[in-house]
Amino acid sequence: MNKSDAERMYGMLEHIGYTQTDEPKEADMLIINTCSIRQLSEDKAYSQIGVWGKIKKSKPDLKIVFAGCVAQQGGKNILKRAPYVDLVLGTQRLYELPNLVKRIETGERVVSIEEKPFEESEIQINRVKGVNAWIPIMEGCNNFCTYCIVPYTRGRERSRKPELILAEVKKALSEGFKEITLLGQNVDSYGKGVNETQNGFEISEGKEFGKDLQGNTINLAWLLRQINAIEGKFRIRFVTNYPTDITDEVIDTVIELDKVCEYFHIPMQSGDDYILKKMNRRYDYATYKKICDHIRSRVKDVTITSDFIAGFPGETEEQFENTLKAMTELELDYSNTASYSPREKTVAAKWVDLYVPEDVKTDRLARLNEHNRACCLASNKKYLGREMEVLIENFEVRKNGDKVITGRTRNNKIVHIPCNRDLRGKFINVRITNARTWYLNGELV
Ligand code: SF4
Repeated sequence: MNKSDAERMYGMLEHIGYTQTDEPKEADMLIINTCSIRQLSEDKAYSQIGVWGKIKKSKPDLKIVFAGCVAQQGGKNILKRAPYVDLVLGTQRLYELPNLVKRIETGERVVSIEEKPFEESEIQINRVKGVNAWIPIMEGCNNFCTYCIVPYTRGRERSRKPELILAEVKKALSEGFKEITLLGQNVDSYGKGVNETQNGFEISEGKEFGKDLQGNTINLAWLLRQINAIEGKFRIRFVTNYPTDITDEVIDTVIELDKVCEYFHIPMQSGDDYILKKMNRRYDYATYKKICDHIRSRVKDVTITSDFIAGFPGETEEQFENTLKAMTELELDYSNTASYSPREKTVAAKWVDLYVPEDVKTDRLARLNEHNRACCLASNKKYLGREMEVLIENFEVRKNGDKVITGRTRNNKIVHIPCNRDLRGKFINVRITNARTWYLNGELV
């Protein structure tokens, strides 16, 4: 989501005459787009603007913009903490950037973090060149998991208008992108509860909320069908799913639609029922398992990936071991792992007496990673000898002179293939010759 926001910022700034530079010392304006999901990333953001503050001492006209989730959280305190910052830009004010830049160019210092949806019009996007285009379809979250900062930084769920999304998809395809990834904190919520916001669907008089003008119900499955109907060879992915919100209608689209890929990212967070309850997740282990089994029984070669937290407040050794067991039993193909990081304002951060000691968290994270590696390798081995379609993303000449192309299968497996030609953006058929922990080796067929 942050990458996608940054592409939008670049686009809007180019539109008002700025160009991109990789050299901070030569820039007229420096922007940091921050993430607050963990304390470490927040600390890094403050340390980075400290460095920029020093540049500004010898270049007083330099403008510094502090954007993203940490900005949304910190608000005007950031101006006090970092007096060299000119603009604090919250996550929901992104589209206001050009106007705000004009204000800071006149010497004003501005904080813009109001949580009111901003009318999104035809925005410019300057995408990072490549194969995959990230396209946000909704933003925010209503779930309030007790460890998570996102509902406080990204606000409540809001869906983008389908016509804006479809126009963006068509533009990305016309620019040569071959894979569209639809983004949202909870993509299953697309189309729900948004009619009262400016950024939601425009409901014509007499029309029921959530229906388009033809009377179709607007949801993720509907959107996937609209995008799949666009002509041309390309792939469609979506992230992230909330386990209990995944509908059969969405699973059907993965089975039926040729462009929608066989891949689900479904964060589980813990394999222990008590911890899941304390996390305010709306499922237990058995329910999550049922969902995975159901998807696997219906979608051939599906990849299911997940997220896990080690050392949530109060987590006992036994409860942690339930997470290890779950990872293995569910045969998860890959998991993002992290140790618990308390985030201000969240419910769990207040349970200081229950905090798991740092050394225990570090040990649990290491064991979680070990299990993750074993699961990944087991998952990759399933594809040995198989022929798979790979969309090539990279071409590399290695130090020893070997030339290698790298890409992904439909089910999101990374494949390295020896090849003399730069085939970036091409769909090729590959036979899998070797399975490594994080990737597969293949040969052209
Ligand atoms: S569903 Fe995801 S984004 Fe929403 S509060 Fe929970 S962890 Fe955070």
